[in-house]
Amino acid sequence: MSEQRTPLRILIVDDCREDRELYRRFIDQTFEQEHLVAETETVEDALRRIAISTPHCIVLDQELPDGDGLSLLSTLRLSRRDDPIPVVMLTGGGDERVAVQAMKRGAQDYLMKSSVDAGALGRAIHGAMKQVADERQLLRSASIDDLTGAWNRRALCARLEEEHARSRRHAKPLSVLMLDLDHFKRVNDEFGHRVGDAVLERVGRLLRASLRAGDLAGRYGGEEFCVVLTDTPLAGARVVAERLRRRIATIEVPLASGSKIGVACSIGVAQADVSRADPMAVVEEADRALYRAKAAGRDRVEVASPPPVATSSATT
Ligand code: GH3
Ligand code: MG
Ligand code: MG
Ligand code: MG
Repeated sequence: MSEQRTPLRILIVDDCREDRELYRRFIDQTFEQEHLVAETETVEDALRRIAISTPHCIVLDQELPDGDGLSLLSTLRLSRRDDPIPVVMLTGGGDERVAVQAMKRGAQDYLMKSSVDAGALGRAIHGAMKQVADERQLLRSASIDDLTGAWNRRALCARLEEEHARSRRHAKPLSVLMLDLDHFKRVNDEFGHRVGDAVLERVGRLLRASLRAGDLAGRYGGEEFCVVLTDTPLAGARVVAERLRRRIATIEVPLASGSKIGVACSIGVAQADVSRADPMAVVEEADRALYRAKAAGRDRVEVASPPPVATSSATT
């Protein structure tokens, strides 16, 4: 993978200095690619280092002065749920129970301290990283729409649910745009499905390039997109929607004839009422606003009424 261009970062968490030196030597022997090995003795320091710079793999001892490897695994499992770090667990001789627990809590592999050698440790680290990379790839392909690169509907709804819950917890505004291409059937009918697909691909790319890191763009249906704007009240969402509408209008897809075609879109905007538990209510609100935008002549943004407990900045 491309991230492997940067030096491989491996974190050894073990309170025994001789063991750490041994593992470091094994890693130096087996890894040809550039690598940086960091060492730490405690759970607390390990968590601190992980927060500063995520290692590509952790080699983890079970018995540590301020806790144990298993508890560190549990902590990581929760805090790194969406971005797991590969872990190779090292257990004392014959302690199969710890090994089983480690695998249950998300470690990719374990080795007995008594029998570890350079080959075994190198293989375990490689295997753990490959397993996590494969799982990430699989998860990604199950969540991303191939054509547009946007989240697919199922993944978007799952993420919206999380963001909605987060907004409720922190009393932060959350807004949603429903965006539908105007008269898109005509594009297909006049220029063919492949040109239609090219337009969709460009719209997806533009959405992804136009949004902030915390925002989400999903393909909701055929030529319909849903954008989730975190920490954004209605007024801000309207600005984003207008900007997206204008940018989408600049898309030009070349035709075989040498000319180009563009596309317009209509957008409905709504801010979530975070006093309500239902995360999909805001999508329905935005969808009603979208319907009004279509009925009013298309190529425009329509905004829903602010929620009753909207922040003051949204009630303009
Ligand atoms: P409106 O302005 O009312 O939204 O009109 P419209 O023609 O966009 O709406 P309608 O829902 O009637 O048609 C949507 C069209 O989108 C139907 C289909 O031809 C096209 N479409 C949906 N998914 C895809 C796709 O994956 N690829 C292509 N090329 N076209 C698609
Ligand atoms: Mg120890
Ligand atoms: Mg349409
Ligand atoms: Mg549609």
